[in-house]
Amino acid sequence: MMKFQENIPLKKYTTFKIGGSAKYFFVAKTKTSLVKAIQAAKKASLPFFILGGGSNLLISDEGYQGLIIKTGKPLSSYVSKGLEWAAGIPGTVEGAVWGNAGAFGKSMQDVVKKVEVFDIKDGKIKILNNKDCQFGYRDSIFKKNKNLIILSVKIKTRKSNLNKIKEYLNYRKDRQPLNLPSAGSVFKNPKNYSAGELIEKAGLRGKKIGGAQISNIHANFIVNLNKATAQDVLSLIKLIKKTVYGKFKVKLREEIVILY
Ligand SMILES: Cc1cc2nc3c(=O)[nH]c(=O)nc-3n(C[C@H](O)[C@H](O)[C@H](O)COP(=O)(O)OP(=O)(O)OC[C@H]3O[C@@H](n4cnc5c(N)ncnc54)[C@H](O)[C@@H]3O)c2cc1C
Repeated sequence: MMKFQENIPLKKYTTFKIGGSAKYFFVAKTKTSLVKAIQAAKKASLPFFILGGGSNLLISDEGYQGLIIKTGKPLSSYVSKGLEWAAGIPGTVEGAVWGNAGAFGKSMQDVVKKVEVFDIKDGKIKILNNKDCQFGYRDSIFKKNKNLIILSVKIKTRKSNLNKIKEYLNYRKDRQPLNLPSAGSVFKNPKNYSAGELIEKAGLRGKKIGGAQISNIHANFIVNLNKATAQDVLSLIKLIKKTVYGKFKVKLREEIVILY
């Protein structure tokens, strides 16, 4: 019988610093314990959610009435191993594979060799190669097939160029609101557009609802200015979508994951 922690506040596990409590919470430090936790949840008919670094995530104010399983290896451990572009992207390798995270013209799709997964459907461990992952712009098979849980990732490595890392970090420092909690870009860039530019042109830069604000520095970031609730952020998301569609007839789609 596995022991899960109970009623754990999730705020501190997300870069937004927003969210209620998890009914059950477990940190999986090994692949075996991750699989066991999933199997235990399935057996108890308990909904579960895999949490990486919580850096692409908005968790509801009511929290999660199931099991949160926290796991993953920091993406930052690969910045010096050929992933210069990933400098400044928080979170885990597994979370980055899930959303095909990327920056400066590169993404996980360029460096993933193999992904080891646990397929909940048949209870088997499988190896996917790069092609099997069906990577696209901030997209992968893992977004479509929720039965596939990432256990480990094999990455193509090489020595990094330290000057490039500095350059990328400086770029972020100048253009992103790194001094306030956020979840990075809220929306994907629609084809031929920049979501940030559309939001800015819609006149929404700096707009506040409750404790949340559309960043003055980068309009595709929503920042937690002062004890923002998930509801504050959701209200801003709704306002942005409605206003941008009204002005430009462009539909924005969330890049962040919303957990309800
Ligand atoms: C300041 C800042 C800058 C950012 N810059 C960028 C950027 O330049 N480019 C970019 O792409 N993103 C960026 N992001 C967003 C975010 O950091 C990335 O999307 C990151 O890769 C998410 O990883 P995570 O571990 O935090 O995932 P989480 O937010 O914890 O989870 C995201 C999704 O992945 C799923 N998941 C996690 N682990 C597993 C697993 N083992 N198996 C199955 N599913 C799993 C979760 O269930 C969830 O659905 C930024 C965020 C911040 C706060």
